[in-house]
Amino acid sequence: MIGEQRDLLVDLNSLFLTQLTLLMKSAISLSGCENVYYYALQPEKKEYSLEKMESVHPSEVAKRLPATDELVTAIGQADKKSPVSEKTTRLLLQSVYTDIPEKERPLSLLYSPIEFNKSHIGFLLFDHHKPDFFTADDIPSVRSLTELLSAQINSFQYLDLFRERCDLYSIMLEVNTHLNVAASKEDFLTEIGRIGKYFLKCDRAIIALRQDTFGSRFIIDAIDGSNEDVQVGDSYPVENTLVGRAIQKGKIQLYKPEAPPPIQGIFKPGDRDSYPFNSAVAFPLNEEPNSTGALVLEFNDPPDIVEMDIKLFGMIGLNLGAALNRLNLYAMMKENATTDALTNVYNSRTVRERLSEEVARARRYQSALTLLFLDLDKFKAVNDTYGHLMGDYVLRDTAKIIKDNVRTGDIVGRYGGEEFVVILINAVAEDVVKTAERIRDCIAKHNFEFEDQVVHIKISIGIAQFPKDGDSEEHLLRSADAAMYETKRKGGNDITLYQPGMQPKYH
Ligand code: GH3
Ligand code: MG
Ligand code: MG
Repeated sequence: MIGEQRDLLVDLNSLFLTQLTLLMKSAISLSGCENVYYYALQPEKKEYSLEKMESVHPSEVAKRLPATDELVTAIGQADKKSPVSEKTTRLLLQSVYTDIPEKERPLSLLYSPIEFNKSHIGFLLFDHHKPDFFTADDIPSVRSLTELLSAQINSFQYLDLFRERCDLYSIMLEVNTHLNVAASKEDFLTEIGRIGKYFLKCDRAIIALRQDTFGSRFIIDAIDGSNEDVQVGDSYPVENTLVGRAIQKGKIQLYKPEAPPPIQGIFKPGDRDSYPFNSAVAFPLNEEPNSTGALVLEFNDPPDIVEMDIKLFGMIGLNLGAALNRLNLYAMMKENATTDALTNVYNSRTVRERLSEEVARARRYQSALTLLFLDLDKFKAVNDTYGHLMGDYVLRDTAKIIKDNVRTGDIVGRYGGEEFVVILINAVAEDVVKTAERIRDCIAKHNFEFEDQVVHIKISIGIAQFPKDGDSEEHLLRSADAAMYETKRKGGNDITLYQPGMQPKYH
């Protein structure tokens, strides 16, 4: 549907010119004039430009003429009944026919202003070499022609606007598809920034997210555009700001300096005084009060936004919100599936997956990889003496101690009940001994204090290195376990480097 509409509208401009040609031709045959020129006003350049001419006796008229206030007023004010003024004729003769020797210039001129939305946008000029060629009788018919043209320009302009909106619709669809599959918020924002810049001529797009469901602050999550006044990661109070209002109320908020809403700032209270943009619109990411965030579009110049834009971008904001929810949910689900709920380190399935990845990597790049296998000594006694809650607490604290004693890139996982593994990347067994000793000492010295009771516990550790102690994930795990069990056999609270012949407990 959208594609068809677009195809239909694509040739609007040439259609307009065809219509214009027809009109100008009929003007020639109706009035008997020699030439008709269509000059369009270019307000930003302060000139009229010759867009089209129909000639019986072509002559070299000016392609551009200065749109002086005098000329614009003279032409624009020409009203339906009054005859052509001598002053305007003189002005036109001087500017349109500048390059033509004076005696070759036409002696009769007739002109008629063209309007769009009640403002002057150009004029039609008819000429003839004979003096007094045009009579007062010609004026109404010429005016009718230009009125017809004005009406057409109006409808064409609307159609043009419509075409842009069609484009917006199709891009919206594109964005929606993007939002549904895009991997990151950055992807969304880039896309939204692109559309905002293209259609609304916005100069910056920002995503602000609430810190938590009823949080009193929001964080700048992503910026597409200048980051001089706000930076990613900045956090601001929700109260009393435009962005905060969009988030709190779940409603679109508009900021214009001439009609400021009762807020103290755009992002933070007080920034309205130094706000670098002329205006802003904040679209909530959810329609209900206490939205999760807002999409903010900002403009250097007063924006030329129509209600439809607001509606469409409102929808984009909501879609963005829904997509973010999905992303967060996905991240949460993924985390649940990969981490152990009690200790917050990787669960055994994930740690096995990671181990096989790291083994493959170490094999490919011939890099070092060492595995620690850790098992708490006589942990069952903790449960039996102090109860399961104390046992759980010890497990949580142990995981924390292990994590605190390895590098961030190392992978810590809970392998079973009171068994942990650590995958140490780019490390050989000899270096890892120190880390292992640190963990053992930390745990041995630690007061596991829970509900006014203190427990002391020790840990047994085994170390195996890829590939000498095991050249596969399974083999390496078995060797590290065997080394750990060797520690247990010798009384626990120690570290053992794997040696060939060592056997795991249940071998
Ligand atoms: P060893 O010195 O030989 O390692 O003896 P141990 O008591 O530490 O080992 P054992 O394998 O005999 O007992 C492990 C205990 O860990 C048994 C089980 O009830 C307990 N356990 C396993 N998972 C959890 C858990 O999630 N929470 C608690 N509190 N205890 C757990
Ligand atoms: Mg065990
Ligand atoms: Mg144990």
